[in-house]
Amino acid sequence: MRSFIFATLPARVIFGAGSLIQLPAELHALKAKRALVLCTPEQRGLAARVSDILGAAAVGIFDRAVMHVPVETAHEACQVARSLEADCAIAIGGGSTIGLGKAIALDSSLPILAIPTTYAGSEMTPIYGITEAGLKRTGKDLRVLPKTVIYDPELSLGLPVHMSVTSGINAIAHAAEGLYSHDGNPITKLLAEEGIAALGRALPQLKQHPQDPAARSDALYGAWLCGSVLGSVGMALHHKLCHTLGGTFNLPHAETHTIVLPHALAYNATAAPEAMSRIARALNASNAPSAVYDLAQQNGAPIALRDIGLKAQDLDRASELVMQNQYPNPRPLERAAIRALLQNAFDGVRP
Ligand code: NAD
Repeated sequence: MRSFIFATLPARVIFGAGSLIQLPAELHALKAKRALVLCTPEQRGLAARVSDILGAAAVGIFDRAVMHVPVETAHEACQVARSLEADCAIAIGGGSTIGLGKAIALDSSLPILAIPTTYAGSEMTPIYGITEAGLKRTGKDLRVLPKTVIYDPELSLGLPVHMSVTSGINAIAHAAEGLYSHDGNPITKLLAEEGIAALGRALPQLKQHPQDPAARSDALYGAWLCGSVLGSVGMALHHKLCHTLGGTFNLPHAETHTIVLPHALAYNATAAPEAMSRIARALNASNAPSAVYDLAQQNGAPIALRDIGLKAQDLDRASELVMQNQYPNPRPLERAAIRALLQNAFDGVRP
């Protein structure tokens, strides 16, 4: 076995159907008495429910979380937190809402309690992103890692099937790249394989029965494990590609991950055989890239970048941008092969 370093990130996880009801006790454990609840406009009703559960311990709702955490929104939310003398922020929602919580924590060191309702995994990472003048600045800071995470599968019962599938494959992407990460270790590999297997079981089930409590529970459990991998080890080509495509061409986050992942895996396949066999084993298949592609296609997710807004003329620029910075990846970045990868993802070719 190779030498490795393993560091556990500090987080308290409460998992289980109905666990939202434990929120007052968890707030108390954080010694917080004045919580600001964060949400998107669409999830205002859920935030109001949280506020009702907390009673006087909820001092307000900020319902303007949006994708990519614009710096103006972050400033506004910080200002509201200050004016209400909040001593904690509760982020209920997907990666965008949790990202807003992280921006508040970065500014003020307020503790964040996260209640995820998608499978994106941000709640398990010390990674933040803030968008200013069209550019998303990302960084790592332990202050932004939520202190407590409540995973209540009942809160994702209404997540539409197409979002469940793409968000679930977004989570799988964290684990898949974790399996060939330059700083991976045996523990994160266990988490990754288990996380992929749980989502691989859950997504087809959710396609048939979106309200199936056991499948919702499996999917959230898988998302937790995959998010833990993202928080613990470095990502590679796939995440770089998605960051570029999302940031420069404004493509939707989870769909982009879903479409690109099979092609990024195909690119790295011969350089990362152990990772490929673990992914394939987790998905009960013989070939990792095509198994991920099939999981997406058979469950109704988009499989071509041209179907989510990328233009053919963007492909050259995208591959230029991806080539600009070299970073750890099992297979070195080769210009022509990256361009071919993007073309395949654009056309939705099965790898
Ligand atoms: P999102 O948070 O943008 O949510 C998309 C939409 O779905 C929103 O309108 C939201 O209100 C709605 N929604 C969320 N849960 C729902 C539910 N259960 N039922 C119905 N509607 C629901 O999407 P996302 O994919 O969760 O997050 C994407 C963002 O998170 C991106 O900006 C990405 O960069 C970021 N992210 C960050 C990290 C990190 O570690 N920093 C990790 C993953 C994702």
